[in-house]
Amino acid sequence: MVFTVSEKGLELRKTVEEISGENIFKCYQCGKCSATCPVVDSMDMAPNKVIRLVQTGDVEVLNQNTFWVCAACFTCSARCPRSVDIAKIMEGLRNVKLRNKQDFINIYSKEFIEKLIEEIPQMAIVSAIKKGVW
Ligand code: SF4
Ligand code: SF4
Repeated sequence: MVFTVSEKGLELRKTVEEISGENIFKCYQCGKCSATCPVVDSMDMAPNKVIRLVQTGDVEVLNQNTFWVCAACFTCSARCPRSVDIAKIMEGLRNVKLRNKQDFINIYSKEFIEKLIEEIPQMAIVSAIKKGVW
């Protein structure tokens, strides 16, 4: 069976590698990053699976919440036996979305300003601002 990658998949892989500075193919799918991630339970897809989708050029990865949920704590990056900086790859994926004006939370929305800002911890608000589009 011949495995082909779409143009969009190739572009995604190239862009994520450019932004992160990481060689995505260094990952050999041991799963250690996912096993040590403190917020994996809130993710649609575990970090190692996200990396696998980027490796195979599957643009479905952009529909997962994983890279938005990632708290950039660098636990995975510190523990990866292949020295893959997974946190940088997550940042790369966020940037792919942000460059297309697709943010996870609209911090200027009525709902955010009138309701959520009262309920969300300050750290989460700072994180949302970091991840939002100006
Ligand atoms: S810990 Fe490193 S090598 Fe293992 S799955 Fe995660 S990124 Fe890949
Ligand atoms: S950097 Fe992100 S993916 Fe890695 S362990 Fe921390 S929260 Fe999980």
